[in-house]
Amino acid sequence: MIFLSLSTIVRVNFAIGFPVPRSSDRHPADARPQFSRRAFLRGVLMGVPAALALSPVVSFAQGLERRSLTLVNTHTAERVSVEFLRDGQWCQDALAQLTHVLRDHRSGLEHPIDCGLFEQLHDLALFADRDAHYEVISGYRSPQTNEKLHNASSGVAKRSLHMEGRAIDVRMVGYRTDRLRDLALAAGRGGVGYYRASNFLHIDTGRVRSWGG
Ligand SMILES: [Zn+2]
Repeated sequence: MIFLSLSTIVRVNFAIGFPVPRSSDRHPADARPQFSRRAFLRGVLMGVPAALALSPVVSFAQGLERRSLTLVNTHTAERVSVEFLRDGQWCQDALAQLTHVLRDHRSGLEHPIDCGLFEQLHDLALFADRDAHYEVISGYRSPQTNEKLHNASSGVAKRSLHMEGRAIDVRMVGYRTDRLRDLALAAGRGGVGYYRASNFLHIDTGRVRSWGG
């Protein structure tokens, strides 16, 4: 597997002992990547040892202690823009806000959302060289809602991971969805479904598989 999660890169980076500035030493602007995201992606695609040999990767990884995400729910028009990871710690208030916006808007029910989805959305934006800004078509679905949608559409699975808070349907603002699909397939971190007619991508934290075209 050539593609590593960015958190893995960070962990390896720390493990091999590169100096890491204390957060109090950094200007807020230092939280931004210190070289282009494209260069990082090239490094990752070269393979792990080669990527780690590139000093810019080290600088970049140090900037990954902070991760942000902006989601807009297309059904409710609610918007959340938060830093969900800071200094390696999950921000509980941010996770609560994301969970709320991703609730089943039909029933109003909330369900914990797998944080792996937030990491995937963040990383895909990084690979796309865009801000992590997404429109959400579907987040959590209660079993009742999923049953209704399943009966109405062959595109909705009966045992959908949406019911476990482990799937999300999105499009990235300002970025082609077919290209987003390509990045998600390359990442190989879970299920990827492309819905061309509706212009959105399903990603989940289940086993690696894909559908749609
Ligand atoms: Zn879906």
